Amino acid sequence: MLRISPEMTSTMKLAEEHLMVRNMVRERMNAADITHKADPKDKQDKPGMIQKYERHNAPFAWPLVREMAELGLCGINIPEEYGGAGMDNLSGVIAMIEMCKVWSGGALILGVGNSLVSDPLFRLGSEEQKRKWLPELVAGKILGSFCLTEPNHGSDAARIETYAEPVSGGFSISGEKCFITNAPVAKFLIVFARTDRTIKDHRGVSAFLIPVRREDKKSGALKIGKPEQKLGLHAAHMGSIVFNNLFVPESCLLGELGNGFGKGAMATLNHGRNWIAAQGIGILDAVTLLSLKHAQNRIAFGVPTIVHSGIGDPIVKMVLAADISRILLFYSAWLEDQGAEFAHYASLAKLFSSENARWLTQEAQRIYGGSGYLADMEIARFVLDSLPLDIYEGASNVQRSNIARAWVDGKISFYVPPLYERQMSDLKEKVARELGEKSALALEDQREPFRVADILPLWATKELILREFNESWPKEFMWFKEPSLLTALIHEQIKKDLDSTIVRNGNLWDEAKKRIIKHTALT
Ligand SMILES: Cc1cc2nc3c(=O)[nH]c(=O)nc-3n(C[C@H](O)[C@H](O)[C@H](O)COP(=O)(O)OP(=O)(O)OC[C@H]3O[C@@H](n4cnc5c(N)ncnc54)[C@H](O)[C@@H]3O)c2cc1C
Repeated sequence: MLRISPEMTSTMKLAEEHLMVRNMVRERMNAADITHKADPKDKQDKPGMIQKYERHNAPFAWPLVREMAELGLCGINIPEEYGGAGMDNLSGVIAMIEMCKVWSGGALILGVGNSLVSDPLFRLGSEEQKRKWLPELVAGKILGSFCLTEPNHGSDAARIETYAEPVSGGFSISGEKCFITNAPVAKFLIVFARTDRTIKDHRGVSAFLIPVRREDKKSGALKIGKPEQKLGLHAAHMGSIVFNNLFVPESCLLGELGNGFGKGAMATLNHGRNWIAAQGIGILDAVTLLSLKHAQNRIAFGVPTIVHSGIGDPIVKMVLAADISRILLFYSAWLEDQGAEFAHYASLAKLFSSENARWLTQEAQRIYGGSGYLADMEIARFVLDSLPLDIYEGASNVQRSNIARAWVDGKISFYVPPLYERQMSDLKEKVARELGEKSALALEDQREPFRVADILPLWATKELILREFNESWPKEFMWFKEPSLLTALIHEQIKKDLDSTIVRNGNLWDEAKKRIIKHTALT
């Protein structure tokens, strides 16, 4: 028996409050004022928010922001003394899953607000900054933006070129940021800029909290572009920002000078990756329900299409992907709540959830046949909304690189049965040798570290089911109401990943399909 990294002794458990949060958000998101699809021929029939705001050139969905603020979802992790709901990270991601199951575009507005804006403000802000901005954020009166990406620096964000030149009383900022969510409506910007030109890496970067002022826009020192035309997630307006010698006083510094990258941008993104994993899970749950409904009702060749394994198996894959992602995500958020290192689990959860959401929504669309290609169909919206999940907050290769490094450094722990002991330890040695001290992103040949990173979410989940969820299975949240069938399916996938000649066990998959149809707890 080989244990790849040190054993952890604590175990996790979901609490009654987590179920309450889920139920509260589920009920609110499914209310008619959000979901109602109005008949275009009936002028009296008022459309719900999704129909109103989830389209090109729609006004900004402030009513959603205010409604969600009423539920405490605009500052879910912010302590009550600043007006927040003071809930834990697990509650935050559970709320995000439920929002995304109904409306991913609307959820992104709040996801960014919670994970990328209020989080760094709360962690790094001075008391004055927190008192000034947090209560209004939490009340849903304003939004902020997180501004890291630049036209020439996305994945390699440590090399950003926006420069904040120290001048008398403050800084003069010049540079450009792009793809910034909520920028067109933001009241303040959290901006990462280089404060030391002589250092070209993460060490020369500082964070700033910059109010969006009319006079700066008028003078041209600050330009915020109109919302970009995106493929999906229309409600979450995104724009670019240009700083043209914008003067900001020293009090705009967020955290310490020169310390904005690790403690600022990267720590925020680690936290945010949990929220993106949640977005993927919400989308996977939604398309599973849509696929189940369609395949049970669509008659072809005289029978409902679901009876065929060609339709049933993709649905099982959706459920499997959603539950594996949920295990990884719940554990990651729980580690974060314990104040433990969680970044590698956030990467596992984000990689697995976002990659699967991207391809399985397309499988779901195939189940719909021609009707899945109609722009007005709900399934089409989820396909388009799934596309950026494996791009933003660290594209998939960035996550693969983090995971390979974490494995080699012994941060991801799992049991390897004797049959695979040799193979896995050889693989680990090989990856360690190829990586050396480098990150996989710096390698030309990344095949082995990236292959391993794609397998590890399954190994890690299997281990977590045995170690963390054995005594208390969170069945209210899961498609699989007990873990044995899920574990068997994961085990089969692991075998297939290591030996491509293995053939799927049809009985296992038929049994999974039967159980999924039987359990409708996620509807
Ligand atoms: C809808 C949306 C919302 C966004 N919101 C925000 C926001 O609010 N704030 C913000 O700062 N940014 C935001 N972004 C930007 C996003 O974070 C970046 O697009 C992302 O980090 C990728 O950067 P890039 O677009 O420059 O792509 P690149 O870095 O050019 O990457 C392109 C591809 O190349 C791969 N790649 C890059 N380098 C390597 C390497 N060394 N080895 C192997 N593969 C590599 C990547 O994995 C990716 O697949 C948003 C983007 C989108 C689409």
